[in-house]
Amino acid sequence: MDFAWSEEQLAFRHAVVEFAEKELNDRLVERDAQYEFSREAWNKAAEFGIIGLPFPEEYGGQGADYLTTMLAMEALGYGCRDNGLIFSMNAHLWSGALPIYRFGTEEQKRKYLPGLIDGRLISVQGMTEPGTGSDAYALTTTAVEDGDHYVLNGAKTFITNAPVADVFVVFTTVDRSKGWLGITAFIVDADTPGLTVGKNFHKMGIRTSPMSELIFEDCRVPKENMLAKRGSGMMIFNHSIEHERGAILAHTIGTMERQLEEALTYARQRKQFGQSIGKFQAVSHRLVDMKVRLEAGRLLLYRLGWMWDQGKGKAIDASMVKLFLSEAWVQSSIDTMWVHGGYGYMVETELERDVRDAFSSRIYSGTNDIQKNVIASQLKL
Ligand SMILES: Cc1cc2nc3c(=O)[nH]c(=O)nc-3n(C[C@H](O)[C@H](O)[C@H](O)COP(=O)(O)OP(=O)(O)OC[C@H]3O[C@@H](n4cnc5c(N)ncnc54)[C@H](O)[C@@H]3O)c2cc1C
Repeated sequence: MDFAWSEEQLAFRHAVVEFAEKELNDRLVERDAQYEFSREAWNKAAEFGIIGLPFPEEYGGQGADYLTTMLAMEALGYGCRDNGLIFSMNAHLWSGALPIYRFGTEEQKRKYLPGLIDGRLISVQGMTEPGTGSDAYALTTTAVEDGDHYVLNGAKTFITNAPVADVFVVFTTVDRSKGWLGITAFIVDADTPGLTVGKNFHKMGIRTSPMSELIFEDCRVPKENMLAKRGSGMMIFNHSIEHERGAILAHTIGTMERQLEEALTYARQRKQFGQSIGKFQAVSHRLVDMKVRLEAGRLLLYRLGWMWDQGKGKAIDASMVKLFLSEAWVQSSIDTMWVHGGYGYMVETELERDVRDAFSSRIYSGTNDIQKNVIASQLKL
């Protein structure tokens, strides 16, 4: 494995950091308090090319490989403090646009991908239901064939981006007696009659990323909007969730690097008992733990990007990345706040927000208990 970056990749990383620092952090404390998503920042990121990174140029993307995409996301995490915006972009990219690109017909790709890449369209996946979260394949939203359409009935919840989304990849069952073999995915436009998008949920963190429920009441979806074949929903979900788990936290490498730099600066400057607090072993050890977690997480992530680029990588590899980076991000955020003492606890220092934001990563894309189950299942216990 070789993780030596080319001059071009490093220049791109630098450009993403500069762009993100300048363009994406506007009014963040206020927007976080008001649960406000920034469409303006979304459009700027799309225009810069971040949203279309891994997609081919023929649809308007950048055609970047996975490692380069991860490096750009890392740079985004370093420069952009708006974790909600980054989360919304990742949900759109890996759970909305990717399945359409990977499993869509040429017609579906031509219809949706250019808009999903250039920022005009926002997408996401609708899997979770009020009664089925971790046990996702027990879903109950039905799709019944009726002439040229399928009629959808049911409810989805905790759907990221839903209040601002234009396109949903929705998982249904066409035959509950068949279990996971009945699961079928559809591309559903947000303005389809019979689909109601709920109000923005109030969350502990990543508040600038909107979320709501979706209600389907005799919602007629044209047959041509089925994604791949009847009964292939589980294959589609497995593919996108694996990519989501592996890539959705790439930005935390940049975030944790910034957190470490800020904690180090403060530990050098802040004096108590006549010396810098960094001279106290308790504080220095906390900073050491932050450094080791960052570098271990970086290698685990790059290793997966390299594997994907070689056409390798299994579910266990993506689950390990998701598990490690989410726990590392939570702890790094707590440690940064902790090093800053009372100042870290104040909203204006923008450190407590990271703690609130980071915690969500233990839950989405499958809780960390579920990641451990995936990893355990490969250990031949
Ligand atoms: C910020 C955020 C964004 C989200 N975005 C989306 C989205 O865009 N689309 C979407 O479809 N969903 C989304 N979700 C939903 C998310 O996928 C679910 O919340 C998650 O899968 C857990 O499901 P649940 O909340 O129903 O918890 P449950 O499955 O009820 O789990 C409750 C607790 O039991 C534990 N548990 C459950 N089963 C097991 C088991 N077999 N072994 C060990 N422990 C277990 C869990 O780890 C957890 O601690 C989002 C959630 C969050 C928090």
